[in-house]
Amino acid sequence: MNQTTKYVFVTGGVTSSLGKGIISASLAKLLQSRGFRVTIQKLDPYINVDPGTLNPYEHGECFVTEDGAETDLDLGHYERFLNVSTSQANNVTTGRIYQSVINKERKGEYLGKTVQIVPHITDEIKRCVQILGSKSDFDVVITEIGGTVGDIESLPYIEAVRQMKWEKPNDVLVVHLTLIPYLSAAGELKTKPTQHSVKQLLEFGVQPDILVCRTEHELTPSVRTKVARFCNVKLNAVIQSIDASTIYDVPLLMLEEKFDEVVLEKLGIKTKKKPDLKKWMQFLDRHKNPKHEVRIGLVGKYVELKDSYKSIAEAFIHAGAENEVKVNIEWIHSESLNDRNVGELLGSLDGLLVAPGFGSRGIDGKIEAIQFAREKNLPFFGICLGMQCAVIEFARNVLELPEAHSTEIKEYTPDPVISLMAEQKSITNLGGTMRLGSYHCDLKKGSKAQKAYGKMDIEERHRHRFEFNNDYLEKFEAAGMVATGMNPDSGLVEIVEVPANDYFVAAQFHPEYKSTVAEPHPLFTSFVKATRTYAKSKKRAEVQEA
Ligand code: GLN
Repeated sequence: MNQTTKYVFVTGGVTSSLGKGIISASLAKLLQSRGFRVTIQKLDPYINVDPGTLNPYEHGECFVTEDGAETDLDLGHYERFLNVSTSQANNVTTGRIYQSVINKERKGEYLGKTVQIVPHITDEIKRCVQILGSKSDFDVVITEIGGTVGDIESLPYIEAVRQMKWEKPNDVLVVHLTLIPYLSAAGELKTKPTQHSVKQLLEFGVQPDILVCRTEHELTPSVRTKVARFCNVKLNAVIQSIDASTIYDVPLLMLEEKFDEVVLEKLGIKTKKKPDLKKWMQFLDRHKNPKHEVRIGLVGKYVELKDSYKSIAEAFIHAGAENEVKVNIEWIHSESLNDRNVGELLGSLDGLLVAPGFGSRGIDGKIEAIQFAREKNLPFFGICLGMQCAVIEFARNVLELPEAHSTEIKEYTPDPVISLMAEQKSITNLGGTMRLGSYHCDLKKGSKAQKAYGKMDIEERHRHRFEFNNDYLEKFEAAGMVATGMNPDSGLVEIVEVPANDYFVAAQFHPEYKSTVAEPHPLFTSFVKATRTYAKSKKRAEVQEA
């Protein structure tokens, strides 16, 4: 398509957590399936420059892009739905906006003017939105504004939307996601919160074009008419977003509501192409009708907040569908594991995943769990810190180096099997200073990883400071833990395996960031397959015993 880029803003009203990210990703999916080039951007109103330094308890997982940006977890949804990579430009925070304006001010770029929220901050916001469209030749840029309308933090963003709508009336559309609560005592759906939230947007000069109404019950025609009339939108622009059993249903629900049609009509885009969602439906069918089930333990220290491991949980959904297996994740707190209860907690599982993480909390439990998996031949998959713990466990229990550790946790250990990368040693700033983003990795022929990928070299995303200490590599390999993935430029170990086990693979990178509906990640797919094989043989053994 060759026309000017169109901009769709998605704002939220009434409460947070209505699923703006999923609605944005679903709209993008529908437009993409009609052949348009679409990207999604998230504007986060907080002051942090990026979410990299945020505790996962605050905002869930930090998602890492190919170019090494530490971003909001919604970008993970965008990539999983669209199968298109995002970048730093897809996630902008207030911190980043102010940082850029202040840098320009210090350079004297404002020529002695007083630097203000309007126009300087709002101009910078508009620049960040439009740069995405112009640079990569997108037909539609969908920009999700974090937070809820009326928050102090989001005011400059709403003002920027108002200005863009005024400047490009034919190219800008505002979708407002709101809630229609059901009061069971009255037995009624209530539209007042939505009316108030639209009123608030109007106070800031923005009339939404489309209202997406999150609801637990079907919206009756009279509720739709009422919302349309009081909120000043056309009847077909009141889109119902009913609770779904899986987020992967939402694009289809939006299709039923003709959300994409209304958006295209309002943007003045004509197309004869209908959405082609054949592959998506095949995935959904496999996801919803699994033939088998497995139970995989996920050991981590943030398991109370499942959003901390969002990409891992989603990668299991993709890999499960690929294997026609339902993956039930058993969330296990690493601090609750010890040598006395490890058998009881892991004994009935079909596989173990030890999660990424930082710091010393819960390390002993992770090491305990890995020892159990290695010794009992339980399928094991370690990611980042999970891989580092597998290395420590092997050093202690197989190489007989009882004090082996990572220098992240014990700086002066006599056996630093995991240690700080040379280029990290002089860095004192915490933000954006890790080994981040995509790096090459060569695979060892015949290894589990190489067979899973079906090729010899790969690229995967990283987010860590510490690494396998190559001084110990020979000893590890002689004793049965082999490096099967290596960075060709730096010689850093990227994957270790214990070939004597049926499945024991651990990666220094984060495979979960690259798993999408269209392309489930090979390491997750092969791990789930191994857990299925293990479950089958366990069942067979039980039958024989009985
Ligand atoms: N804390 C470890 C490191 O920095 C692992 C990081 C991670 O799991 N993402 O190397």
